[in-house]
Amino acid sequence: MEKKELETRLIHGDYDREKHYGSLTPPMYQTSTFTFDSAEQGEARFAGDESGYIYSRLGNPTVDMLEKKIADLEDGEAGLAFASGMAAVSSVLLALLKTKEHVLVSEGVYGCTYGFLQLIEDRYGVEHHFISMDSEEAIQGQIRDNTKVLYVETPINPTMKLIDLEMVIRVAKKNGLKVVVDNTFCSPYLQQPLNLGADVVIHSATKYIGGHGDVIAGLAVGKEEFIQEVRGTTLKDIGGVMAPFDAWLLIRGLKTLSVRMDRHCENAAKLYEKIKTHPKVKRVVYPGDPDFVQYDLANKQMRQPGGLITFEVEGGKVEAQKLLNQLNMIQVAVSLGDAETLIQHPATMTHAVIPEEKRLGMGITDSMLRLSVGLESVEDIWNDLSQALNQEKYNVEKTLATETK
Ligand SMILES: *Cc1c(COP(=O)(O)O)cnc(C)c1O
Repeated sequence: MEKKELETRLIHGDYDREKHYGSLTPPMYQTSTFTFDSAEQGEARFAGDESGYIYSRLGNPTVDMLEKKIADLEDGEAGLAFASGMAAVSSVLLALLKTKEHVLVSEGVYGCTYGFLQLIEDRYGVEHHFISMDSEEAIQGQIRDNTKVLYVETPINPTMKLIDLEMVIRVAKKNGLKVVVDNTFCSPYLQQPLNLGADVVIHSATKYIGGHGDVIAGLAVGKEEFIQEVRGTTLKDIGGVMAPFDAWLLIRGLKTLSVRMDRHCENAAKLYEKIKTHPKVKRVVYPGDPDFVQYDLANKQMRQPGGLITFEVEGGKVEAQKLLNQLNMIQVAVSLGDAETLIQHPATMTHAVIPEEKRLGMGITDSMLRLSVGLESVEDIWNDLSQALNQEKYNVEKTLATETK
């Protein structure tokens, strides 16, 4: 049978309603364990001689449906669900790396990924280096005898720097390395790294895949053999498994992924046009900007430029914080990919743990704000943002005046 388009597979997949009383939506098997018909059946299930569920940490029908769905959407062989994006990152990396082995990581990866890499280096001797991954030579020059994995995030938060996946995969193949891609910022709708030859794709499903800001979850997709290895070791034994209800919410969220992503991207494109002309905005970083340094690469590897916009306001930390305090509808919060437009200040929030000098070296300034463009009317988003920008010096004086009263 011919594979249907992604928009259709988000909704239909291979869910078999006949096995579930014709229930239109997949049921939630909210159970910890599964009963056996007989002692012999229990023995056969544990021995692997008979397929069937045993205990929800080892497998659950609702979670299974989601795993099959994400594997299908990323065009991979098998999928695996985790309690969080970080459970996926840590379980996958622990399965791929041993003591004294080495991983090369794209600079500026998610903060907790950075923290996890430090932890396994300090405690278990798994080595890592952060590199720019700007060119084949830049990567090749850093590969050592013990290097096993290239770990990539693209676009990188909040600078929106992209990494050329095709190029990274070419270098990896030449050197017999595995490529892991954190695809959270794109979702499978905008970017499919496995189709370019990556080995494993990871998602924080908390973001665009869930899409409604109501669940913390992670996913991984890769070759059947590797995924089953993770399932039987670093997932099962460390235990960061997904709850059935979370899987149910994500199956529901995925149905609208294409519609939501189209709207996130459309709103972001319109908002970018407005933000860039505002006199109090110093700089806007958005992959859909024709002047964006990696505009061609964005066009090549992403279906659309995404729903995130980073911009710098005139002034510094004080002005950035005042702007946030003037917003009414736009919510000040970390995370991204929700229906609500969210804004955060990387220097004091997501990237606060990075020493100032290093952070500035990464291009993350004190006046930088990151906007996760939501699904509201773009007019209302702009009205809120512009009224905040239009406040005289973001109301510094007004606030001071009321304070001294
Ligand atoms: C949020 C995020 C993570 C971590 O996911 P959690 O679900 O919060 O554990 C990892 N990578 C990226 C790019 C993220 O944005």
